Amino acid sequence: MKTAVLVLVVVALAALAAGAAAWTKRGGEPPADSTSPKPVSAEPGKDSLMNSKDQAGKGEASARKISRAAYDVTPLSKTRVEELAKKLTAEEAAVILSKGTERAFCGNLVDNKKDGAYVCRLCGLPLFASDAKFDSGTGWPSFFQPFDKDHVAYEHDTSLGMTRTEILCARCEAHLGHVFEDGPRPTGLRFCLNSVSLEFVEKGAAWPEASRPIETQAAYFAGGCFWGVEDRFQQTPGVVEAVSGYMGGHLLNPTYKQVCNEDTGHAETVMITFDPRTITYTELLAKFFRYHDPTQLNRQGPDYGEQYRSAIFSSSAEQEEEAKRFIAEQQASNPKYKSRKIVTQVIGAARAGKFYPAEDYHQDYHAKHGGHCAMPEDD
Ligand SMILES: [Zn+2]
Repeated sequence: MKTAVLVLVVVALAALAAGAAAWTKRGGEPPADSTSPKPVSAEPGKDSLMNSKDQAGKGEASARKISRAAYDVTPLSKTRVEELAKKLTAEEAAVILSKGTERAFCGNLVDNKKDGAYVCRLCGLPLFASDAKFDSGTGWPSFFQPFDKDHVAYEHDTSLGMTRTEILCARCEAHLGHVFEDGPRPTGLRFCLNSVSLEFVEKGAAWPEASRPIETQAAYFAGGCFWGVEDRFQQTPGVVEAVSGYMGGHLLNPTYKQVCNEDTGHAETVMITFDPRTITYTELLAKFFRYHDPTQLNRQGPDYGEQYRSAIFSSSAEQEEEAKRFIAEQQASNPKYKSRKIVTQVIGAARAGKFYPAEDYHQDYHAKHGGHCAMPEDD
């Protein structure tokens, strides 16, 4: 009996510790009550900027993490960070590794007004861009938003008798500075940086290897309501970005209204930017067949019309061939399609035409508004 009680206590303590670690890793305030709803920020964009750790937690732990700006943000190993740290001067190490603060008005980037990006001094990841820099008068370089919300991480910091939110590089955990809620529009945030934590790379200059994005490929899938298809793909490991739009029609710059009410020929399509090292095109095709029903002609569930047709717009001859082979194999050997004909169109790059991104309010629709479209996988 005693052993059982002890085990229970240990388990409870471990759960508490895990909970504490979870909020400190995600930054911001610890949840007063995990069941109460999150307060809604008055400033648009603030919540989405501050929750990067929550977003990054999606997907498989072992997969490499790619940001929406197509950078490899997989956390570096301790050994790799130690290797990189050898190049730091004592002054840089005091700030970057030991969370120090440089003296105000002493950094070399406070008054820098050139166009370019501010990359991590330790690992080279772009952290801030010149178009988000502003003069805060504090003596430290200040920005109202990061280069990409997945490039910075947050920690709750109670050192020096203050309650602050520390900002770190998401890839190497270099200390960068702190973020405060007294910044300008549109975010209302002030990212207060140490110059020594950053390195400036001017626009047009050759960017160091560590500061460049990964090589990605594009894929285009039409499978009914794009809100749902986009949402599923956005959460698929290896997918860097999924964008809702229109493709396969004849009208230039179509609007949602025109696609719905006029005979423009467009299909609601999702453009996928993917990392071919993490997910192959064939694996994406398999996901696409799970995320919609390829046997429904010119409709998907309750949505009727040509705009909801099932189609694959290939971006190369190889993709076209692969898509055709995939469909033939599914039709021939997948019992799911034994008595149901796959009607998915495969349209070559030359005939597919241009992809037009949909209006802003259609992007990340389910992420912003919740809910989900009915999909075969949910059945
Ligand atoms: Zn870094």
